[in-house]
Amino acid sequence: MSNTVRELIILGSGPAGLTAGIYAARARLNPLIVHGPQPGGQLTTTTDVENFPGFPEGIMGPDLMNAMQKQAERFGATVEQKLVTKVDLSSRPFKVYFDQEVELCQALIISTGAAARTLGLDREWELMGYGVSTCATCDGAFFREQEIVVIGGGDSACEEAMFLTKFGKRVRLIHRRGELRASKIMAERVLKHPKIEVIWNSTVVKLLGEKKGGLTGAILEDTVTKAQSEIQCAALFYAIGHTPNTKLFEGMLEMDENGYLITVPNSSKTKIAGVFACGDAQDHIFRQAVTAAGTGCMAAIEAERFLAEQN
Ligand code: NAP
Repeated sequence: MSNTVRELIILGSGPAGLTAGIYAARARLNPLIVHGPQPGGQLTTTTDVENFPGFPEGIMGPDLMNAMQKQAERFGATVEQKLVTKVDLSSRPFKVYFDQEVELCQALIISTGAAARTLGLDREWELMGYGVSTCATCDGAFFREQEIVVIGGGDSACEEAMFLTKFGKRVRLIHRRGELRASKIMAERVLKHPKIEVIWNSTVVKLLGEKKGGLTGAILEDTVTKAQSEIQCAALFYAIGHTPNTKLFEGMLEMDENGYLITVPNSSKTKIAGVFACGDAQDHIFRQAVTAAGTGCMAAIEAERFLAEQN
């Protein structure tokens, strides 16, 4: 075990973690930022990002994350890719366990993000950003006057379907049951919208198309009769929920029923002094790169204040 106690470790390298890293590095906290299994976070699965302020022509998701990482490194942050296997937050210094080693720190920022649930279909990851998406806000505008499909029957699916009507020629909502899970008001809006068509009792079993040329359609299976049919579409949005990456902290930190970390209102503080949470691991409402960056900034400022008080 290394005897060095770092001032700050940041878990996760999406917009929240890297923004926290920029602020913490400029505050001379020499943070270690740990990439998780998806370095750069969810933005690395999108292509053009058009809604991050400061990029009037848009920017590719991976390019934005590389730039943020460079900016954090420029001020002295260390970024390493290693998998956290366990954390011990029972006393300070906190312990972060990796495969082969343990790191100690006085303050910890958790920005481990969330993962959009998908169906795990063949070639889903190949087509991600090329017609398949998990974020209507990010990618909807690329499919003007095209056939769009949304999968899911909850509030997110309904909200995304409504949003996508601004762009698509038609939006088809594919739901595995015969009744929407969404709140009544959302369901009503969707059901009476002239551009939305619901395909009931159906699920997607195959994606058609390839990276070059993008998605062209999908094979649906009726969940009752098992009959298969083909539909054409240029875009398919998953809206079947998100899972926050917070399993590591079960039993240690407060979480809501879906696993999102609970922080003190208007703050990134958790119930353990010195442990802060930000980004999509904590925010299930906005889930945008820019809001994640904002809460990452909050967490770094709060960590800096916490460390100053300790000294
Ligand atoms: P959700 O409520 O859990 O709904 C997920 C939907 O995806 C369900 O309809 C579910 O089908 C479907 N689904 C899940 N796994 C699937 C699979 N393997 N194959 C096909 N379909 C699958 O998730 P959400 O819509 O993301 O909402 C999460 C929370 O945020 C909810 O509490 C929601 O009310 C809230 N929210 C609120 C708003 C708003 O108020 N404006 C907007 C968005 C989200 P079944 O119905 O068959 O289970």
